[in-house]
Formats: sequence, C-alpha cells, structure tokens
Amino acid sequence: MPCGHLYCNPVPLTGLRAFALVLTLPMDLSYILNHLGEERETYHGAVAPPLVQSSIFAFPTVAAMRDGFRDEYASHLYTRGNNPTVAILRRKIAALEGAEDCLAFASGAAAIAAGVSAFVRHGDHVVCVARPYSWTRSLLRDLLAKFGVTSSFVDGTDVAHFAAALQPSTRMIVLESPNSMTYEQQDLALVAALARARGILTLCDNSHATPLNQSPLAFGIDLVAHSATKYLNGHSDVVAGMLCGSEALLREVFKGPYMTFGAILSPHDAWLMIRGLRTLGVRVERIAATTRKMLAFLEAHPRVRRVHAPHASANPQLDLSAAQLRGSSGLVSIELDVEDVAAVERFCDGLQRFLMTVSWGGYESLAMPVCAVFPADAPMRAGGGLPLGLVRLSIGLEDADVLIADLERAFARI
Ligand SMILES: *Cc1c(COP(=O)(O)O)cnc(C)c1O
Repeated sequence: MPCGHLYCNPVPLTGLRAFALVLTLPMDLSYILNHLGEERETYHGAVAPPLVQSSIFAFPTVAAMRDGFRDEYASHLYTRGNNPTVAILRRKIAALEGAEDCLAFASGAAAIAAGVSAFVRHGDHVVCVARPYSWTRSLLRDLLAKFGVTSSFVDGTDVAHFAAALQPSTRMIVLESPNSMTYEQQDLALVAALARARGILTLCDNSHATPLNQSPLAFGIDLVAHSATKYLNGHSDVVAGMLCGSEALLREVFKGPYMTFGAILSPHDAWLMIRGLRTLGVRVERIAATTRKMLAFLEAHPRVRRVHAPHASANPQLDLSAAQLRGSSGLVSIELDVEDVAAVERFCDGLQRFLMTVSWGGYESLAMPVCAVFPADAPMRAGGGLPLGLVRLSIGLEDADVLIADLERAFARI
C-alpha cells in the first residue's frame, strides 16, 4: 500500500507487508518467533538467548564512546536506551507488525502515553475513539489536558464521526480496534486515509487482535501500540508494552518520552516475553478455535441477553471483522439476562475454572464482571453506559467442554 505520507517509510520486510494485505498468516511466523534477532553464533550456540542483566556497556576507546553518545538510539550505552535482550524482543514484535522498528515499555499504558505525548504539544487537539482502555482515556482527558492538549471522544463505528470531530489543531487520532469491553471496530483504512490527507498522525491499540489477526500499519496507520501483558506474553507473569512504527517516528519517541520518562522494559521481563512469544501462534490458533465453540454455546443460552464479540453472529460490524481481522481472539463479553446485580454476583461467584480478575490474554480463562467496579447498589447501567450485567470473558487454553460446564454450573445459580 504505497503512500506519500511524511512519516511513511517503505517497510523492508516485503514478505510481511504482503501477508498483511492478503489477510493470511505470515509464511515465516515460526522464523520470527524461533529465530529472528537471535544471533546464536555470538553466544556459543545457546538455543535460549542470554539474559543480559547489565545496566551499562563499556567502550574500548574514547572515539567509540563518542560514537555511542552521538546516536544513542542505535548504540549500546545504557539499558534505559538499549539492551541486547530487549533488542531481540523488539525485532520480533516489529517483524510481526510489519514495522521498521519497535520500542519496548514497562507497560501498555506507558507505550500509549509515550506514543501520544511525543507528538502533541500545548494547543493541540486529539480525537480518540469512544470508550478506549480506561488509562488511555485518563491520559487524554486528565493528564494531557493539564498540559493544554484537548481531546474529543467519538463513536468510531462511522468514519464520518472522526471527520466531524477534526479541528484545525487536531494532531493525532487514537484508535483501539476492537475497543475495550464491547469490541466496536473502526475502519482503519478509512480513518488512516482521512488522517493522512490532513497530516494527522494515527495510533492504533492492537492489543485485542494481536499482530497475527490484524495489521494496522498495512491499512495506513502510523503507530501501533500493544499491551504485551495480554496475548503477546500470554502467561500472566509480565506487564509490558510495545510501540511499533517507522524508525523516524520511533526516534522522536525515543528522544522524548522513552528516555525522559524511562518507563522501559527490564531485560528480565524481555527475556520472559521472548519465551512467551514462542507459543504465540499456537495459543492464538487454539484460543480462536475454542472461542468459536464458546460463541455458539453463549449465543444459544437463555440466560444470555447479548453476546459482544467481533465474530458474534449479531454483530452489525461482521463485514468489517471479515475485512480487517484474520481471526478471532478469546475476548467475549456477555450481557446476562438478569434484573439485579445480586444475580450477576451469584453467576460470577459460582465460576470455578474461570478466574475472576482484571486483564486478559493469558493461558487461563478469566471473567471480569463490570459490576465489580461499581458499588453494589449502583443502577444497572452505571459506568459509561456499560450495563452492570456485562461480564467480560477471556477464553484461555482449557478445553471448551470444561469451560462450558463451568459456565453452565454458574448459570444454574442465577
Ligand atoms: C490492558 C490494556 C492496556 C494497558 O496495558 P498495560 O500493560 O496493563 O499497561 C492498553 N490497552 C488495552 C486495550 C488493554 O486491554
């Protein structure tokens, strides 16, 4: 997809770029996950990469040190800037997204905050999709507002809403597709075209789909952010974030919020993430297959009023799901057919295999009841229009039969 955008550099990974457009998995996925970035000949052929637990890197000469300072983005000087273990991870995530480069952060929230704050200044305006991840909303509505950056939140299901929200000072559009809790999608190609025509940068949170199921850069988006805490790591033992894009954009992020806020991923967490990534392909595939069975079960269940998922049969955006997503993730929100919060509590308290907590994307199935966020006597539609009978399920690697039996047991308690 050629483009004349200021920041759009040709992506060298031509094979990856092509896969994104034909909506199939990359031919060399196993190469990326098993080999890319791992220079085994430099560390005795070790199959698992070394964990370079060093804060600093020494230089043989003053001239070499001067070179290191001259381009810290490209040199090993200090682990707040670069670290060899983190570098392996960065190369893999960049390749998965078909990006020139990637920066690794201490959390997804840090990646998003850096990706936005690097490019806005006092007086600028940001358009964001309605109901993004809660800390993305806080970043724009609370934190950046303190520094004179204003924001509008729009229903992203129609590109006309983005066009209507643009102001002369609009500098960025922040997307999350599918978005949190109810999984509305934005047409990435249309929003990217709208933005590029006006020199506006776009950032898309791609945590939900993973790079295997959606490639925002191929649709013309400038920056892709991940909460790598979710599927990319996949084991509920690391909090991490990724920001992918052109080297030109990432250099701006690097010399701005990346180095000044210093919310970097530690080498140890990067090492764990490299291990988690080994199974990304099989996890995503298995979770998609189980989720198909869970969707069929949930859509037919009399205790479920509505099922929210990009591939739910009642989703009005099924065409967009087919055009943008290569497959399903394991996120499904169900609206229970209940009259009060007590019934939601009976259902959730009865779950034994689904663990009840925040987050998602791990090997284990989780349930997150919206009503847990609000006081027990709150009205049934409390938070941002979300019904209190809404329960987000994250489908893990268990057998579908086990999960269905667990849900049946819990439904029976309603
Ligand atoms: C969890 C999440 C984040 C934040 O990521 P952390 O790693 O928890 O900081 C951002 N976006 C989405 C969609 C998320 O679900």
